[in-house]
Amino acid sequence: MKQVGKFLLLEVDEFKKWLSLFHPVRTISHIQQHHTWIPSYKHFDGDNHFKLCDSMEQSHIKRGFDEIAQNLTTFPDGKIMICRSLDKQPAGIHLANKGGICIENTGDFDKGRDMMTETQKNTIITLTGLLLKKFNITPNSQTLVYHHWFDLETGKRKVTDEPDSIKTCPGTNFFGGNTVKAYNDNFLPLFK
Ligand SMILES: [Zn+2]
Repeated sequence: MKQVGKFLLLEVDEFKKWLSLFHPVRTISHIQQHHTWIPSYKHFDGDNHFKLCDSMEQSHIKRGFDEIAQNLTTFPDGKIMICRSLDKQPAGIHLANKGGICIENTGDFDKGRDMMTETQKNTIITLTGLLLKKFNITPNSQTLVYHHWFDLETGKRKVTDEPDSIKTCPGTNFFGGNTVKAYNDNFLPLFK
């Protein structure tokens, strides 16, 4: 466990312990999956977790947020950074953040870009499973969501599952794809 300012970097086991001692004040009802896009794997040197979170925070502040947008960040080495308090609503999906926890997965998981490490994959699965259990959330496509499914202007769910050239987040190759179908086939079954 390593702390710099508000940022707390943990191994998965340490996060598990930390979460067991966390008592939320707000109601947490959904979990968001994102990819950072930038920084991607080429920006990660194995030791710059804090620097990357700090630079993400600077860019989020420039976009008008009061601090880093995401509650949690995962890294290619499987570590987890607690960024924004879990008791604070994230700024992950425009107009759709109420009750959410935003997970930003470091990498560019569009097809042909970063190949997710097994370690990060395992962390995302374990972390998501721990959060679902902790907050008593039944996983489905309304409670465990991909950014890509939301209209960027209105925050409403898109009706179709058309490829979106603007926002592919968490990536067209995230656990086999960012569509609801790919999610139902590949991601959701991991939590049943
Ligand atoms: Zn996103």
